[in-house]
Amino acid sequence: PAPATLLNVNGIEVIYNHVILVLKGVSLQVPEGSIVAILGGNGAGKTTTLRAVSNLLQGERGEVTKGSIELRGERIENLTPADLVKRGVVQVMEGRHCFAHLTIEENLLTGAYTRTSKPEIAANLEKVYTYFPRLKTRRTSQAAYTSGGEQQMCAIGRALMTNPSMVLLDEPSMGLAPQIVEEVFNIVKDLNTREKVTFLLAEQNTNMALKYSDYGYIMESGRVVMDGAAASLANNEDVKEFYLGMG
Ligand code: ATP
Repeated sequence: PAPATLLNVNGIEVIYNHVILVLKGVSLQVPEGSIVAILGGNGAGKTTTLRAVSNLLQGERGEVTKGSIELRGERIENLTPADLVKRGVVQVMEGRHCFAHLTIEENLLTGAYTRTSKPEIAANLEKVYTYFPRLKTRRTSQAAYTSGGEQQMCAIGRALMTNPSMVLLDEPSMGLAPQIVEEVFNIVKDLNTREKVTFLLAEQNTNMALKYSDYGYIMESGRVVMDGAAASLANNEDVKEFYLGMG
């Protein structure tokens, strides 16, 4: 049987500052256990789409004014980001938001702040270290003195400390050397395969994202202009002409 739809975004409109219409009816589906990529250039609306799902628009003076967002069939537009974390949805923001003055391990532990069972937290930390051996080596280093790749891994690791079923990943490749991007995406794929974590990621790096995703949505000016299985998008002539080589 086809996997159940975990996330269903249905025709959402998003307006910033009461006047700026940024998403003009965006729909997308994320099947349970999949990796889905939202692709497109600067300002296409990828980040806004992720923020709408994780309800992080408010701080940006944005709001969903039309459409609906459902997680396992339940409407979630009015849930707080903390409620969403409890339901297994966590966002890793663009630009690797680690606490610079904390060590890597302290950063990871901040991800577990809502949890109480010390043995479970310890087990989760060890699990993060098995996926990110680099973080284990750097566990006592202050995040400020680690590399960009290590900080991106730390941000993903911290999200994993909430024990999520779905991770929203905003532009994980940003500012990283291609080899490090591959390393990060390989770990994402591993987490997806072995831990059954579902990923919805936003990427300008079309080639890399399609290589690791199951399905892709291409956005332009606040709309989805094309979608399809990752392999078919990667072979599509229009996609090759306009989007490959970006990022
Ligand atoms: P990027 O890769 O640059 O983040 P993106 O595809 O993620 O691009 P968004 O960040 O979602 O695009 O931005 C979509 C549009 O919304 C852009 O025109 C941007 O200027 C506008 N926008 C984003 N955040 C705000 C905000 N807080 N207030 C007003 N306009 C915003």
